[in-house]
Amino acid sequence: MNPSASTHVLVRGQVLHFVADPGPADAPAAWQYFDDGALWISDGHIHAAGPWSDISAALPPGIRHAATLHDHRGHLVLPGFIDCHLHYPQAGVIASFGRQLLDWLNDYTFPAEARFADVREAERSAAFVVDRLLAHGTTTASVFATVHAHSVDAFFNAASAKNLRMLCGKVLMDRNCPENLRDTATSGDRDSRALIERWHGQGRLRYSITPRFAASSTPQQLQLAGELFASRPNLHLQSHLAENPAEIAWVKALFPERRSYLDVYAHYGLTGPRALYAHCIHLDAADRQALAASGTAAAFCPSSNLFLGSGFFDHAASAATGMRVGLATDVGAGTGFSLLRTLGDAYSVSQARAAPLSGLRGFYLATLGGARALYLDEFIGNFTPGREADFVVLDWAATPELAWRMEHTQSLAERLFALMILGDERCVVATHVMGERVFQRTRPGYQPGH
Ligand SMILES: [Zn+2]
Repeated sequence: MNPSASTHVLVRGQVLHFVADPGPADAPAAWQYFDDGALWISDGHIHAAGPWSDISAALPPGIRHAATLHDHRGHLVLPGFIDCHLHYPQAGVIASFGRQLLDWLNDYTFPAEARFADVREAERSAAFVVDRLLAHGTTTASVFATVHAHSVDAFFNAASAKNLRMLCGKVLMDRNCPENLRDTATSGDRDSRALIERWHGQGRLRYSITPRFAASSTPQQLQLAGELFASRPNLHLQSHLAENPAEIAWVKALFPERRSYLDVYAHYGLTGPRALYAHCIHLDAADRQALAASGTAAAFCPSSNLFLGSGFFDHAASAATGMRVGLATDVGAGTGFSLLRTLGDAYSVSQARAAPLSGLRGFYLATLGGARALYLDEFIGNFTPGREADFVVLDWAATPELAWRMEHTQSLAERLFALMILGDERCVVATHVMGERVFQRTRPGYQPGH
């Protein structure tokens, strides 16, 4: 291909990305940081990432002249954030009072999801959530729709209009839920197959088979979901696991013959590569080993787990087994779309487990860790040449408190940790998808002296 016929984008800023999990000791080989760095993007993909001086010297004059330059000197340029678990129909019940998981579902979640019988409600919500994800620097997510097939159409239509790499699926739920949200094993399978035909592999979209959790599906529905998961390559699967003690006791009563909650899913063929479970809090060592050995991933949802009083995910013990772990908001039990705020909560949860999560490892979780948990790291998650150029630009000093704190930091690790604790969506200067800017902050950040 003639490179001068391609579209070129140059980004100058403080470029950081990860090539591996830094682990508990912040292994320096796990990341690359270029203080005066650059991304050279060609046709929406990373062509090169490195020091500005090297990349600008390597640019042929014709490309330098034709390229679009985004000058973000002084700002942090990171791969787009990846939210490994959220429920787009629940955006309207964020911040609902006083319930733990099972009552939360009955009192808030199910009524909200029932309103999606109206396709206009689904379309309005999908447009709102996609817009807010981009404003928070999130460019990929693994998303639950509702039981209604048209709720997946609405989300994928909104995502494809922005050319986003997204996973979504229709909730499978054929028992222990309100009549107006119940499918059957047969209808759920039929609807999922039709949605897969319509959307799976279209552009950057992939379908994720979505049984809500073991207690809301019959054995027949779980069986069909497992058969569907195995039926063609690259299908994904998402569900919930071991979030809350009452939920776990209920699953044990429904499936007394299985060793553990995880073993229910394993029995029906619902584990393995591209299977992803939210929460994974109350697990024993055998379950953690089984998740890791099978390649099944966990979505760490600290804000949701604190908000619903569910418990403390053991990130250190999970990661130590080799389990793939990503970070997630779990909106609407999560308290917002910001993965920066979620990282702050991840730190608090890690302290409750006496294994503090560092800034470097935190930003790994929100980027490459998420891509690996979703088995999408051949496409997204870092700035390796050939990856899709989804990235977020962050202002280190978006608030007076951040600016003041940054004045008193010495190292990148310290700065990242301060950003993870004090940062939020006000830090997001711009979000780009396949090189194209899809969000830009309209108000400037904090200006010292004003
Ligand atoms: Zn969830």
